[in-house]
Amino acid sequence: MTHVITLLCTREGDCVEVCPVDCIIPGPKGDPDWGVLFWIDPDTCIDCGACVPVCPPEAIFPEEDVPAEYEADIARNAAYFTEGPGYWDYDLDEQRH
Ligand code: SF4
Repeated sequence: MTHVITLLCTREGDCVEVCPVDCIIPGPKGDPDWGVLFWIDPDTCIDCGACVPVCPPEAIFPEEDVPAEYEADIARNAAYFTEGPGYWDYDLDEQRH
């Protein structure tokens, strides 16, 4: 199981600061395919839930609670780490918003 960031994400970045396993990564700002959201690595997430209450737009859900209209975001979060940029060396303040 994992948590999932949906298209409700506004790139606040608060989630990155609380994740104990550093598995939330911003899609590089300006990247047309991946730059809209921050993403959660489903292979590393430990389902602690710490990111959920700190997200201002309430964009993060446990996988089983993702609203139907955002269901495609489950696969997109995983794909970011297998087909997209994945982990990279970023400056969080530059990537916010
Ligand atoms: Fe990180 Fe916990 Fe959120 Fe998973 S549920 S992304 S481990 S803060």
